[in-house]
Amino acid sequence: MKQTPLELRITKKMQPGVITLNGFLGNDDRHFHEIIADDEKTLEKLGYTAEQVAERMQYFTDLSWEFYEQPVEVEGKYAVETEIVRGKLPCPFSHPGVYRKAFTILTNTETGVTIRWSSLNLHLIKAHHFFEGKGSTYRLDPELLVKTLF
Ligand SMILES: [Zn+2]
Repeated sequence: MKQTPLELRITKKMQPGVITLNGFLGNDDRHFHEIIADDEKTLEKLGYTAEQVAERMQYFTDLSWEFYEQPVEVEGKYAVETEIVRGKLPCPFSHPGVYRKAFTILTNTETGVTIRWSSLNLHLIKAHHFFEGKGSTYRLDPELLVKTLF
């Protein structure tokens, strides 16, 4: 697929060592547009939208921030915690501004599954429907997200 200059710049920023050590694409050979489209399809099959997933993630993030670095129990089946790491990251899609390196760690005590996301993850899902490429350190699988968050 031929890329526009903007797409080329974005793809470049997603490579390892540019914004993050391991980059955003993992070992995924697909164009980021395809990654986004495929994950949107997966969500659609499950009956959810990226906005709904992001909204739910935001809800847990906001709750855990109120309990700064202390685990909090939510809805009787979630343990949520925030971990602050020094530093800030910019969005690879070239939005202005930076995102704090804060992680929300959520365990669904019914399924035993723990997922973690950064402020940047949340922004990427909310604004770009981008869950990252397969094999990427911080990829959040949409199906796992739905099963864990709802
Ligand atoms: Zn952005």
